[in-house]
Amino acid sequence: MLLPDRKEEATRDKRKYKTVKYSIDSKSKNKYKGKTFYLKTYGCQMNERDSETLAAMLKQLGFKEEKDYRKADFLLLNTCSIRENAHNKAFGMLGRFKHLKQTRPEIVIGLCGCMAQETSVCEELLKNYKFVNLVFGTHNLDKLPILVDKAFSSDERQIEVYSREQDLVEDLPVIRSNKYKAYVNIIYGCDKFCTYCIVPYTRGRERSRKKEDILKEVDTLVKDGYKEITVLGQNVNAYGKDLYDDYFMGELLEDIAKTGIPRIRFMTSHPWDFTDKMIEVIGKYDNIMPSVHLPVQSGSSKILKLMGRRYTRESYLELFDKIKKIVKNVTISTDIIVGFPGETEEDFEETLSLCEYCKYDNAFTFIFSVRRGTPAEKLKDNTTLKEKEGRLYRLNEVVNKYFLENNKKLEGKVVKVLVEGNSTKSNMYYGYSETNKLINFTSKKDITVGDIVDVKITSAKTWSLDGEVVE
Ligand code: SAM
Ligand code: SF4
Repeated sequence: MLLPDRKEEATRDKRKYKTVKYSIDSKSKNKYKGKTFYLKTYGCQMNERDSETLAAMLKQLGFKEEKDYRKADFLLLNTCSIRENAHNKAFGMLGRFKHLKQTRPEIVIGLCGCMAQETSVCEELLKNYKFVNLVFGTHNLDKLPILVDKAFSSDERQIEVYSREQDLVEDLPVIRSNKYKAYVNIIYGCDKFCTYCIVPYTRGRERSRKKEDILKEVDTLVKDGYKEITVLGQNVNAYGKDLYDDYFMGELLEDIAKTGIPRIRFMTSHPWDFTDKMIEVIGKYDNIMPSVHLPVQSGSSKILKLMGRRYTRESYLELFDKIKKIVKNVTISTDIIVGFPGETEEDFEETLSLCEYCKYDNAFTFIFSVRRGTPAEKLKDNTTLKEKEGRLYRLNEVVNKYFLENNKKLEGKVVKVLVEGNSTKSNMYYGYSETNKLINFTSKKDITVGDIVDVKITSAKTWSLDGEVVE
């Protein structure tokens, strides 16, 4: 049994990590033929991408995917710990699994991902969730075949959670959930340690993949007919800093653009590492989508300092203006936390006024959620939950107003949309524009999922737009 240790998770060293290749021994291949797995994913795109690899490894072992958890032989939750409600959802699901285990004791139940990296969660699982057979964290995902084997062949619970990142593993198998859109990891972990955030502890130190490995993956996606990639990392702008002296996110984005993949997106960008080179490259290449996610978190410099965000309201706005000026027709979205400890009504009003200035095209708004072991846990918080809910409501009213106002400006215009799906019932298609707007549309001509089509916008709503394909 190996449990995570928060103190060790918080430390960073300059140890050189190796890049190693994944392989599975031939005896394990198809060993579980006839068995099925159910995999549920919580949280961010990084977890979704991890699950595509978990599913692929299970298929190498011979498992078949089962969408109904009640019928599966192996049930696995890939979890998220960013806010309290993510925890609650996973524990709720474990409650359902418990009932199933009573009628089908032979099933194996597993939990992996960010929640497993929390000592308190592991302790809770050990004490009150004895029916969970397998627990592993974010650092040994590639060991799934060995761990599953141990869990199926032994009555002992398998708990293997490393506190420190291991070597970086390439050539992991993947079964992508979409035929036209793909996620490409470029950097793992986070070294920013924003005071409210659990990610640097659960995901470890920043480790960039080698540029050759990333470009090889993108080339393969181009050959396989993919139309869009989203370059992923907790903080993609830190790319290369741990690996190279003269090759960073701007250079990588440029090389990815040159592969010819039709659409490139990237997330998430911390304003701190957003360089002029990046802005220049985004503005220069038509296949880098003019849509930037630039989390601000708060409009008050005092709160930003308490959050450890390394920028002020003024420097954020300077960057915001620069991106708007250089990247033609760019849309900018953001993340905002309300009710951070110490946030006064005046601080909150600064957030509102910043949103009035930025007129974001999209915003993910959250109430601060205390994460165990983070510095913000120790800060004094005098604001009641009711007040925080009131602030969230007021904030949403402001940001929603601008979503609609910005969308209205597109009425009558023609935008390029990657077709993602259609509903035969309503004869409507849907997809996203270059600026990442959800478009529902009709078409009189034959189009298919994966096409990029010109759509004339007929009407705007707050979170989506309606249109029709231009003949
Ligand atoms: N790396 C990104 C950045 O620096 O902006 C953020 C990644 S995080 C997975 C996504 C968002 O969750 C954050 O931008 C923040 O708004 C929100 N978040 C993180 N920790 C939180 C907490 N303890 N309470 C509420 N929201 C939180
Ligand atoms: Fe969390 Fe993002 Fe800050 Fe890293 S940069 S600590 S992931 S909010």
